[in-house]
Amino acid sequence: MNDLDVLITVPHAGCFVNPFRMCDTRAYEAAQILHQALNSYDLKNQVFANTAIPRFIMDMNRFVSRDTRWRKLLSEVLREKKPRWIIDMHSFPSDTIWGDRSGLKIEILHDEHPFPLYVHQVLKELQKIEPTMSNLDQGKWNDIMDQVLENNRRNLQTSKVFLLEVNESSQSFSKNELEKVMKILARFIRNSIFFRKQEKNHQ
Ligand SMILES: [Zn+2]
Repeated sequence: MNDLDVLITVPHAGCFVNPFRMCDTRAYEAAQILHQALNSYDLKNQVFANTAIPRFIMDMNRFVSRDTRWRKLLSEVLREKKPRWIIDMHSFPSDTIWGDRSGLKIEILHDEHPFPLYVHQVLKELQKIEPTMSNLDQGKWNDIMDQVLENNRRNLQTSKVFLLEVNESSQSFSKNELEKVMKILARFIRNSIFFRKQEKNHQ
């Protein structure tokens, strides 16, 4: 029994008022927009955000944070609500000392290799809007994803999981575009759940 269709985790939503970038400045907004889009397709979903603790104090997406209150609560949600999909939401700066990423709007990361089929499908769906705006990349040590994959292997849950990063600059990625993308993602998830139910009924 799945009590949730989608769980949206936001581990780096903890921002202090500070001249430096202390969090993923757009991740929480992106999560709220996805939440609205999922609601419009009648999908049971929840945003699970860490807004209290900034990343430099404790990175909630690393193994060392598993004993924190937020991660313990998250473990409970995973165990009890068995979400079908888990989307770990992040955002990246458009311009950094490592280079200009203004051309990239969305990035999907996955820790498991080869990538599961569903992440290729999500990417393909997003690229229908604009072929070069999204990218799929290899992730590492994303512990929320790793915990879900671990649970899947132990048959504690069977969830699809990926990490989604959105561009923080509204010049590179406008709010309108962000809303459009989240709508497409929500529709894709709705269809994937609907088709699975139909398959089951035909078995
Ligand atoms: Zn992040």
